[in-house]
Amino acid sequence: MDDIVYLDNNATTRPLDSVVEAMGLMLAGEYANPSSLHRFGQSVRHRMECARAQVASLVGADPREIVFTAGGTESINLAIRGTLSVSGNKRHLVTSTVEHSAVRNLARQLRREGYDVTEVGVDRSGRLDLDRLTERLRDDTALISVMYANNETGVVFDVESVAALAAERDIPLHLDAVQAVGKVGIDLARLPATLMSISAHKFHGPKGAGALYVRRGARLRSLQYGGRQERDLRPGTENVPAIIGMGVAAEAVANELADGASRVAQLRDRLEAGLRGSAPRVHVNGHGAPRLPNTTNIAFPGVRAEALLLTLSEHGICASSGAACSSGALEPSHVLQAMGLEAELIDSSLRFSLSSFTTDEEVDCALSVIPPIVARLAAIAGNQ
Ligand code: PLP
Repeated sequence: MDDIVYLDNNATTRPLDSVVEAMGLMLAGEYANPSSLHRFGQSVRHRMECARAQVASLVGADPREIVFTAGGTESINLAIRGTLSVSGNKRHLVTSTVEHSAVRNLARQLRREGYDVTEVGVDRSGRLDLDRLTERLRDDTALISVMYANNETGVVFDVESVAALAAERDIPLHLDAVQAVGKVGIDLARLPATLMSISAHKFHGPKGAGALYVRRGARLRSLQYGGRQERDLRPGTENVPAIIGMGVAAEAVANELADGASRVAQLRDRLEAGLRGSAPRVHVNGHGAPRLPNTTNIAFPGVRAEALLLTLSEHGICASSGAACSSGALEPSHVLQAMGLEAELIDSSLRFSLSSFTTDEEVDCALSVIPPIVARLAAIAGNQ
């Protein structure tokens, strides 16, 4: 797809050429099982351990604290269920109102299974209410699970304060860092989280590959029964090509994190400023809170997000809005609802998410195409 302007990088990113190449080589030639004791198997094992070190280094962890999984959702399930399954009488989970469906729907299911779940709210800018979080912690709280950065608005939670609070109360903390890894610097040597979920396809690695950071001494149990891979936490033969791809991506983004993030932020800020000036009452959701450098979520009051999304798609611009429900229609965003935004803002909001592949020309193109479409759709809606 040469003629598209891809501004949907929080959905997934383009794999780096070096990732594709490394994976191809693994698939074609290095197909031995890393658990095999022969030299061929051990050479694959060695490569896998290098990938573990690359992923660990990206987040300031020890390689022994990285467990490979099949992506963010699986890491999250392992972190939360795996911890609750060894928590005995402690059956209280604390999370937030703006979590990704991977945490949200799991929390709903846990409620059905008799766990007590508290969802802590956010303010109008999407910041987690830390006072409320503190109040809600109990003696039987088994786990706090909150996101590091929000996938829809890019708002970054004050995870340092959450981690300090959790450590003070001796409560395990899981961070869903799927959107944060590779976009902001993370140093688990300083941030006392117990568990952290990572997904490769959000930082130019392959889909279906992820990792769970498990701090040394953390207590949790595998969700599946099988072989002894991944320190007994994730049985089954590892998806070696994808793991190698994730390692290559991790090293590449780590090397250019500081420069890459500021370049992406400049492009995002230019896009945001241009769109802000494009119509009256345009509102940047999450404005005022710390945000990921690549994300902007913008309300165009008077325009329906769905119509805008589809019209932009016809013009080759890929953005995103809310969450598609099973029928393919859009459901109002639970994130924007939790922020207390008015229906008019929620129904007219689109997310634009950039990456290091995003060019000046793409931003120019978006800025020349989007404002007239917004004006046209607003005029049509106004006449109805
Ligand atoms: N958590 C967050 C914040 C996400 O944005 C996503 C994916 O969009 C996930 C979890 C799920 O990750 P995966 O697609 O790797 O299962």
